[in-house]
Amino acid sequence: MIEKDVVIIGGGAAGFICAIEAGKRGRAVLIIEHEEKPGKKILISGGGRCNFTNKYASHENFISQNPHFSKSALARYTPADFISFVEKYKISYHEKKFGQLFCDGSSRQIVSMLEKECKDNKVEIVTSCKVNDISINDNFLISTSFGNYYTGSLVIATGGISIPKMGATDFGYRIAKKFDLKLTEILPGLVPLTLKEDERKIFGQLSGVSVDSIVSCGNISFRENILFTHKGLSGPAVLQISSYWKAGRSISINVLPDVDTSEIFYENSDNKIELVNLLSNYFPRRFAQAFCQVYFPSKPMNQFSQKDLKSISEKIHNWIIFPSGTEGFGKAEVTLGGVDTNELSSKTLESKKVKGLYFIGEVVDVTGWLGGYNFQWAWASGFVAGQYV
Ligand SMILES: Cc1cc2nc3c(=O)[nH]c(=O)nc-3n(C[C@H](O)[C@H](O)[C@H](O)COP(=O)(O)OP(=O)(O)OC[C@H]3O[C@@H](n4cnc5c(N)ncnc54)[C@H](O)[C@@H]3O)c2cc1C
Repeated sequence: MIEKDVVIIGGGAAGFICAIEAGKRGRAVLIIEHEEKPGKKILISGGGRCNFTNKYASHENFISQNPHFSKSALARYTPADFISFVEKYKISYHEKKFGQLFCDGSSRQIVSMLEKECKDNKVEIVTSCKVNDISINDNFLISTSFGNYYTGSLVIATGGISIPKMGATDFGYRIAKKFDLKLTEILPGLVPLTLKEDERKIFGQLSGVSVDSIVSCGNISFRENILFTHKGLSGPAVLQISSYWKAGRSISINVLPDVDTSEIFYENSDNKIELVNLLSNYFPRRFAQAFCQVYFPSKPMNQFSQKDLKSISEKIHNWIIFPSGTEGFGKAEVTLGGVDTNELSSKTLESKKVKGLYFIGEVVDVTGWLGGYNFQWAWASGFVAGQYV
């Protein structure tokens, strides 16, 4: 049996930072990763360029049953802290839009930086290691395919269940249940939405077409592109809204946010220009054709009544869709929900019930928007736990 001050299960974003911080404090730290290498999600993130933080991250960019929970960690480890870390390693980066920071080169640079810091702080990492059981008497006994480990501080950093082929498991949720900690509902987030069969037949043909839009669900709205897919809708605006959408609810899409259609319809109401041709001045032609095909068979503008034009205008600015579902955890960038924040200290991320047991990163019921927020939560929660383990 090997004794360690800290055992972290999960070698992802949160696990790495927690290990580094604990290592800096002189703690003997072990990371147990079940995949053959750590940091797989970091490697594929941001299209291979890792959107490692968002300059403007605040608790308002996160979804949780307790919207205040993330405040403390986010305040103690800010985007500026992670940016200094990246700059210390001379990793060049750029802002893409809305404060989203990406590596100029590759996500590999972020993983290499984290691995180097682990090494410098004497963090041991074991990979391809399966945890068979965890039991507790005074300390935690972790029995694995590599033998047994004994520790007073056990950190669960196994992430959510999205993209199982990248190593995601429900391990963290099972451990939470085992120790009698409550979970909130687990759902796929930042995920493409699917359309009903009849809409899919038409709009599925637009696969690859994108349209700048405002997408809303209830009182939440995002302005970015929507992207048509074979199964329904994706693109940043739809991914963002998917985290707020619930089965049975509608979403509203304004596909022409910067143009007042009633004005252009008024200007063209005596013209013989066909509706589809007029709309093609504002949308990709294929979208204009599909939109007319489903809702308003195209004809010359001067043949539409004022009432028709009003409802076309309404449809363009408030296109109501009832998605049939989502593409599920296989395609979701994140998992909504997780370990109930009521069970954890927001200051330390330690369980209130089980001393020495910590949950950090995506396994906790804190989920960020698209745009570098999820990593910022992983770094921040890992950092604060790293000060106490
Ligand atoms: C395709 C994709 C792209 C993304 N891009 C971005 C982005 O650009 N910016 C951003 O902010 N967020 C992005 N995200 C989200 C981000 O990757 C996660 O929110 C973040 O990685 C969560 O960090 P974590 O440490 O909690 O979990 P993870 O990074 O998922 O790490 C968990 C680790 O635990 C390991 N593990 C799981 N089960 C076990 C077990 N039983 N035993 C041992 N180890 C286990 C896993 O293999 C993994 O290494 C992306 C997600 C995906 C899927």
